[in-house]
Amino acid sequence: MAEIRSNAASVEFKNVTKIYGKSTAPAVNDISLFIEAGKLVTLLGPSGCGKTTTLRMIAGLEMVTSGQILIGGADVTRLPATDRDVSMVFQSYALFPHMTVTQNVEYGLGFSGFGKKETTERARAGLELVGLSNFGDRLPSQLSGGQQQRVAVARALVLEPQVLLFDEPLSNLDAKLRRRVREEIREIQQKLGLTVVYVTHDQEEALAVSDRIIVMNNAVIAQDGTPRELYEQPANAFVADFIGEANMFQCEVVSVEGDGATVHLGSAVLKLPARGRKSGPAKLAVRPGRLEIGEPDRPGTLPGTLEKVTYVGSHLEFVVATEFGEVFVISPDVDTAFRAGQPVSIGFPERGPVLITD
Ligand code: ATP
Repeated sequence: MAEIRSNAASVEFKNVTKIYGKSTAPAVNDISLFIEAGKLVTLLGPSGCGKTTTLRMIAGLEMVTSGQILIGGADVTRLPATDRDVSMVFQSYALFPHMTVTQNVEYGLGFSGFGKKETTERARAGLELVGLSNFGDRLPSQLSGGQQQRVAVARALVLEPQVLLFDEPLSNLDAKLRRRVREEIREIQQKLGLTVVYVTHDQEEALAVSDRIIVMNNAVIAQDGTPRELYEQPANAFVADFIGEANMFQCEVVSVEGDGATVHLGSAVLKLPARGRKSGPAKLAVRPGRLEIGEPDRPGTLPGTLEKVTYVGSHLEFVVATEFGEVFVISPDVDTAFRAGQPVSIGFPERGPVLITD
């Protein structure tokens, strides 16, 4: 009985640039990255930032304008798509409508030099892996969207590629199904130890499935890190704003001692990791859940007036007017005594605020 295995390999970009045709602005501008074998890495960013172009360059469906691409340490920069050991799952599934599920999965294997028996067994193992063992004789039109996507995943898996690419695989599914299929993809990836590069513009999806996220903006990498790093320590205003919500403040770094900085934000005094910043004006990002509302006039806090309190079931949302504009605060404590119109203070717990670049 055939078993689907992983031939997972690393992916590396060295100063890769892509300029399409006669356009002057690069779609991808001098990016370098390294994706470890066996990891699921997401390319995340707004429309037009260069995610799909990056994915297609790994597949060999687009050629680089300059730079180098390595898969498993081997230079594949000039190799055509057919000579790269990479499979891609598209958002449209791209199943053949006149072929059964089994025939669809077997189709790609036919070109890979496998014998009839091996092909049949691999297709069966692939369909089992995605939980569709009993659907082999159906046509794609007799399946739900989620099931069709699983067929597309099986078809890519049976080739045992070094790298598996997903281009917005869930965008045609409704919200509930999206959550389930993304968990299935993650489970299979972890079970087999596959290298997966996954494109999405949905930040929640990226946070949920990824070992690492590469955030792209305007053809460059804005930040590369684990979901937790990106959320808790955004490097710049773009990432702070794109992943989750953030309050952004103009502040003043008054001194730096070793790795620590003393920061003034109006009357509030904060001790923060310096993150390479020097003394002078700086920018600060704080997640709404990392601020705390308290009685007015507490030392070291930011004074303000409570403008709005909104109950949203699982938590409370506060809007506070301050000298820095409106500040958004979330509290899990829904039994608050604070009322709109009253003076309050905003406290900055340790590990909440982070210094960022523009
Ligand atoms: P989306 O989320 O909308 O798919 P994306 O982040 O995947 O966006 P890309 O599709 O990689 O972005 O596009 C990056 C830039 O390159 C965009 O400005 C786009 O218009 C341009 N571009 C993409 N494909 C081509 C092409 N075949 N010819 C010319 N320009 C292109």
